[in-house]
Amino acid sequence: MKKEKGSVSIDAQNIMPVIKRWLYSDKDIFLREAVSNACDAITKFRMLHPDSEEAMSVTVTVDKEKKEIRIADTGIGMTADEVRKYINQVAFSGAAEFMKQFENEKPEEKGDIIGHFGLGFYSVFMVSDKVEIQTLSSEGEADPVHWVSEDGMSFELSGGKRKAHGTDIILHITDEEKEFLDVWKVREVLNRYCGYMAYPVMLEDANAKPVEKDVPVGDEKNEDGTPKTEKVIEVPKPQQINETAPLWLKKPSDCTDEEYKEFYHKVFMDFDDPLFWIHLNVDYPFNLKGILYFPKLKNDFGTHEGQIKLFAGQVFVADNIKEVIPEFLMLLKGVIDCPDLPLNVSRSFLQNDGYVKKISAHITKKVADKLNSLMNTERETYEGYWDDIAPFVKYGCIKDSKFFDMVKDSILMKKTDGKYSTIAEYKAANFDKTDKKVYYTNDEKRQAASVKLYTDRGIEVAVMSTLIDGNFMSFMEYQGKEEDRVTFARVDADIDGLKEESEEGKDLDADKLQTLFRGALGKDSLEVKLESLGDADMTAMVTEDEQMRRYKEMSRLYGQ
Ligand code: ADP
Ligand code: MG
Repeated sequence: MKKEKGSVSIDAQNIMPVIKRWLYSDKDIFLREAVSNACDAITKFRMLHPDSEEAMSVTVTVDKEKKEIRIADTGIGMTADEVRKYINQVAFSGAAEFMKQFENEKPEEKGDIIGHFGLGFYSVFMVSDKVEIQTLSSEGEADPVHWVSEDGMSFELSGGKRKAHGTDIILHITDEEKEFLDVWKVREVLNRYCGYMAYPVMLEDANAKPVEKDVPVGDEKNEDGTPKTEKVIEVPKPQQINETAPLWLKKPSDCTDEEYKEFYHKVFMDFDDPLFWIHLNVDYPFNLKGILYFPKLKNDFGTHEGQIKLFAGQVFVADNIKEVIPEFLMLLKGVIDCPDLPLNVSRSFLQNDGYVKKISAHITKKVADKLNSLMNTERETYEGYWDDIAPFVKYGCIKDSKFFDMVKDSILMKKTDGKYSTIAEYKAANFDKTDKKVYYTNDEKRQAASVKLYTDRGIEVAVMSTLIDGNFMSFMEYQGKEEDRVTFARVDADIDGLKEESEEGKDLDADKLQTLFRGALGKDSLEVKLESLGDADMTAMVTEDEQMRRYKEMSRLYGQ
């Protein structure tokens, strides 16, 4: 038999129902896809006609009475051949890609996956029982074209009505999806996905009635002194949804602190100022723009949640995509724009993508650089931030050893005297007086007497009282390089480091005391030691082995 080559064809009859069902969980994206196609069409027109002074925009018109949403653009439009090529065939590639991923994904991940497929144009069939395209190409002497399809499977192509170049996509919304005929709903979705697209996106309510308004007539007054007014009919105008030049795309040197703060308040609805921020601005070897804010901590670390908004070329993709952004950065707030991200593929692909790894590593390094530069040039300010950023930095160290290597000299410990030391500073100031441990308290009130034992002897005590500290100390004790390891002991864990030679108590019998305590507490493993505490304000002290206590605490926390 002769050798044959070709591509496998996929039957639209089979694929459309699958696409519709799988896209079900995230219907909103049809607006994002249609508006981003419209913006693409404008960009193409601009590239072919750089000198054109025509105003460019996308208008989304909601017509509740006619049950229609129309997405109109002033872009390049399509010829009949282009409609045949791009519209009638595009489902193939999108669907093929979809099917490939389909086999490997767990069903519970389907909601996540679809939003990033960029199935594009065909997503409009999720909400429509009929879709029309009226388009006129700006190139050559093209004729306007009308395309109509009820199910995305069969279509009709005929002469169209458009007079000016560009495209109208008309969606006849199904009864089940009639919520999209509410202007507020469409505005909400457009705000989310299209809030920073590159061309003006206008929202128009086709059913908005003209309103009668009282308008002052110049400075004229009535007899009673009130301003004279006249009735004016106001026709509601389309409103612009987006900001076409978002702050993150500006040069950092052109942005003021006020602009950064204002942007933060607006985007994250957080009316506190951020502590500080990093403006990412890379063109090479990859394209990455964005602003990362360090927020003030409001709650305990356990409930603290950041928000990183991911954009691909000014189009919002999703919040907190963990495949692209290092996990510990999720405690920050910010926007990241990676136009070249392959977002039309599944998340499991992103996880293994070398490009994504590079972006992630770059962000980590920028964050570390910022912390180190604050530490080295503005130590006092940095100390002022420390309580807020400590959970984030510690979490980052535990999660990413490269991050730890980069910031280890900028890790601070707050001490009971309210001052801050790096680990190196603590070592230098205290290790000659102790058994080379960092002594800490996690409850200054309850452990006050024990703290005093140390501070009276000029030994500093670190405060390790946030939720992450237990994990962080374990990390510091067992992590990577020998020279970076530090041992921690709670002030009431043992007092081996404080032993003093003393005559006092020499006549007490340790064995007798031990029998007495074992009997009284019913614990045969209890050990009683006799050691002098010098002139401490206590006569006896119950200690518990640090490792044992920590193990018990963990078991309690994690219910083992
Ligand atoms: P993608 O945008 O990823 O190419 P889509 O399915 O969203 O895939 O769109 C398919 C193609 O249809 C586009 O690449 C474009 O050629 C054409 N198209 C869609 N919408 C428009 C539009 N408003 N103006 C011009 N061409 C369009
Ligand atoms: Mg598209």
